[in-house]
Amino acid sequence: MVTNRTFTMLKPDAVEKGHIGAILDKITGSGFRIVAMKLTQMTKSDAEKFYAIHNERPFFNDLVTYMTRGPIVAAILEKENAVDDFRTLIGATNPVEAADGTIRKLFAESISENAVHGSDSDENAEIEGSFHFSGREMF
Ligand code: UDP
Ligand code: MG
Repeated sequence: MVTNRTFTMLKPDAVEKGHIGAILDKITGSGFRIVAMKLTQMTKSDAEKFYAIHNERPFFNDLVTYMTRGPIVAAILEKENAVDDFRTLIGATNPVEAADGTIRKLFAESISENAVHGSDSDENAEIEGSFHFSGREMF
């Protein structure tokens, strides 16, 4: 298993507000190499599968509606210690609790509309990257 990669999505709120460039600048400026990237939109079934781990949570239906309402930027990123370093770069799930300078502090609206996704483990980075990209889309 590749352990120096993580997976991210710039979520519909970030894309709607025109923050793609600024967020990618933060990501590449923090030493992440873009291995794969595309503008895409998840179907309801995609979002239900991607977030299946949360399907019993009270926010699940709202999460699926939010994540499918417009295009996202999906990307695989590479850096030493990618998963942990990227979680540090994006900040806490709730932007109110996110550290200064983090992507969520800068660009997120709320705990639900929080601008970016970052994988929480090497195993999930692999699963989530493969959900969105085929091998020939990874560089
Ligand atoms: N979420 C939400 N309400 C909550 C917690 C999470 O709407 O109380 C949404 C939010 O978009 C979050 C996603 O569900 O990013 C996945 O939740 P998780 O706890 O995995 O947070 P993350 O790993 O994204 O920080
Ligand atoms: Mg998570």
